Amino acid sequence: MEQVCPLCNGLTDAGITCKNCGEAMKDGGMWSDYIGPYAPYEMTAHVKQQNGGQCTHLMHCAHCGNEAYAIIQSDFI
Ligand SMILES: [Zn+2]
Ligand SMILES: [Zn+2]
Repeated sequence: MEQVCPLCNGLTDAGITCKNCGEAMKDGGMWSDYIGPYAPYEMTAHVKQQNGGQCTHLMHCAHCGNEAYAIIQSDFI
């Protein structure tokens, strides 16, 4: 079995709704993609996933432009 983030692997939607307008928010990608190469290695989502079975995603609302971080719990597959 392997512990993976279902969002990273396209297995599921996050099911996060926008606090502003209530629309379903889209996965904007892993947090580390936004921080870029200058972030400390400890801050990347991959490390978080390994340490706590969790993955941080930046969610984006296409309706109103709101953005929010979502902590996604990894599943065993
Ligand atoms: Zn993920
Ligand atoms: Zn919205």
